[in-house]
Amino acid sequence: MATRRLYYDDCYQREFSAQVLSCEPEVQGTTPAWAVVLDCTALYPASGGQSNDWGKLGEANVLDVRDDGEDISHIVDRELPLGSVQGCVDWTRRFDHMQQHTGQHLLSAMFQERFGRPTVSFHLGSDLCTIDLRGPEPTEEILEGAERAANHVILEDRPIAVRYGTAEEFAELGVRKEVQRSGILRAIEIEGADLQPCGGTHVKSAAQIGIILVRRCTKMRQDWRVEFVCGRRAARVARNDFQLLHRAAEELKCAPEDLPASTQRAISERDSHFKTVRALLQRVAEADAAAALQSAKTDANGIRVVARVFGEEIQPEYVNSLATQLAKTEKAIALLARHACGHLIFAQHPAAGKDMNALLKQVLAQFEGKGGGTRDFARGKLTDAAQGEKAVAFAAKQLTAGS
Ligand SMILES: [Zn+2]
Repeated sequence: MATRRLYYDDCYQREFSAQVLSCEPEVQGTTPAWAVVLDCTALYPASGGQSNDWGKLGEANVLDVRDDGEDISHIVDRELPLGSVQGCVDWTRRFDHMQQHTGQHLLSAMFQERFGRPTVSFHLGSDLCTIDLRGPEPTEEILEGAERAANHVILEDRPIAVRYGTAEEFAELGVRKEVQRSGILRAIEIEGADLQPCGGTHVKSAAQIGIILVRRCTKMRQDWRVEFVCGRRAARVARNDFQLLHRAAEELKCAPEDLPASTQRAISERDSHFKTVRALLQRVAEADAAAALQSAKTDANGIRVVARVFGEEIQPEYVNSLATQLAKTEKAIALLARHACGHLIFAQHPAAGKDMNALLKQVLAQFEGKGGGTRDFARGKLTDAAQGEKAVAFAAKQLTAGS
């Protein structure tokens, strides 16, 4: 005997009496659970894009509701005896689903009728709901237009009814999306706005959707995914958006309506500071390179080696600039490291005639790490950043040994 689905005819029924026909142990992660089949239920199983209900059967909590074809399985957290049981639906969760689901019907209808954008699929998530539209990218006017038209139907509080009929009968009535199924179908009619076969739960009049808020639209393979929220969720999302704007405005010390201009200003200031700092670092690197070369010893071949290990207060970009700067001077070699990250930079003026890549490989064979480069410029990273001093000293020694 198939489970009688009470929500088909009255999805406002929150409490019901039923008979437990079976109760079997169920593997549900590590917590013990049982699968219960009843003669009838008001609890909605996950199906057709709508999530399952939560609720109670006697003292047992309903963790999941599954549609097993004919039967509906209620996954509960304790064993139930066969016989009578009182059930109830977690109404806050269910009513939220009803608002989102009915809102989806209405919004899809507006996109299709007003703008020729059919819905190919939809998803009602626990935070966001989405519909995927076929066709060219919906413009801002289309997104706003569909939202406005849908909210107009909500303001008019059009009645919403459940209709039964065959696919042919619905096709004659101008159903939004035809289905290829035989027998008697269930369809949801929003008066004068939409007719759509559906087995889900919906509100009984448009005003109960509350409001529809269309949000982002992004490309999803060949379609366009439109995010939306309805009812209490829309209010929650709008409140959250306001708080975000308010917080950002406080940070930037401006009014929320001035945020775009203030953000723009902050970004250009940051960009211009970045350029200034880069230019200054370049100047400092030039001066440091000159001073370092002055105090470096020149060997018999006229080669000068500058070996340095920097602390974490020195930025990697600066070490890079210094290496480049040093290597511009005739026969100079730079062996640089940074403590904080274990980065190594070996650079030479081509006339120095050594091989920085080979030198780096020798160092990395001695001290663990990765890296490589060219004859004149090589870069690496030590696995143990604390080995920087030793690695640089080792490299300097290799150079003298080789000369
Ligand atoms: Zn539906």
